[in-house]
Amino acid sequence: TDFGYKEVDADEKTRLVGRVFDSVARRYDVMNDLMSLGVHRVWKRRFVAGCRLREGERLLDLAGGTGDIARLAAGRGARVSVGDINRAMLSVGRERMDAEGKVDGLDWLQVNAERLPFADASFDHVTITFGLRNVTFRDRALAEMHRVLRPGGRVHIMEFSKVGLPVLGKVYDAWSFQVLPRIGAAIAGDKESYQYLAESIRRFPDQETLAGMLESAGFEEVRWDNLSGGICAIHRGVKV
Ligand code: SAM
Repeated sequence: TDFGYKEVDADEKTRLVGRVFDSVARRYDVMNDLMSLGVHRVWKRRFVAGCRLREGERLLDLAGGTGDIARLAAGRGARVSVGDINRAMLSVGRERMDAEGKVDGLDWLQVNAERLPFADASFDHVTITFGLRNVTFRDRALAEMHRVLRPGGRVHIMEFSKVGLPVLGKVYDAWSFQVLPRIGAAIAGDKESYQYLAESIRRFPDQETLAGMLESAGFEEVRWDNLSGGICAIHRGVKV
């Protein structure tokens, strides 16, 4: 298993990822805006719009962090459970949501995506954005997503992916490896966590490989859309 720039074993990766998000939780939202120049908001709106949610549908947002997807999905009438392994991220999310006013039909749960505490067929949708990259046993997590979906239910994954255009790829690499860790050091006093971020993005499976992983987990009608030239991709699949 890899933890960005270091080779580490599975338990170690889980612990290190925990440390990264403990360390960034307080500044997570600000840093997202800074590092993506606000673009993550556009991606997230497009992601949730494409889920085609219907009033009252049950949605599990895994690695839900501070609740960006949850808020958008609840706004479209879904009943949302936010699941994240990290208590600090969840409490920042809950505080932010309380401060912004009440959002109905939301549940916050500390869960590991690899072992979900839900019965089979509990949800109409499972979403995970910028989360799968951080999960140690991704195949297990995908199998769990499949298990907790009802037949006909859909999975939606958004993750950094492989840039198609070589020129854009060069610019993007420079941004990720030169600029981001420096912003991380300057603003959050935490260069390491942002170095991990850049490395983990580079090592994450590309569009086709991830689609294959979804199929291996039992999903059908697997499709993806590239955003911003493949910097990010949205994969969707159906449990038949
Ligand atoms: N989904 C949010 C977003 O798009 O802004 C947060 C993404 S954040 C980059 C990644 C999240 O994955 C962190 O909150 C982290 O705690 C969570 N995470 C990492 N491993 C996990 C696991 N095994 N199960 C559940 N959540 C996990």
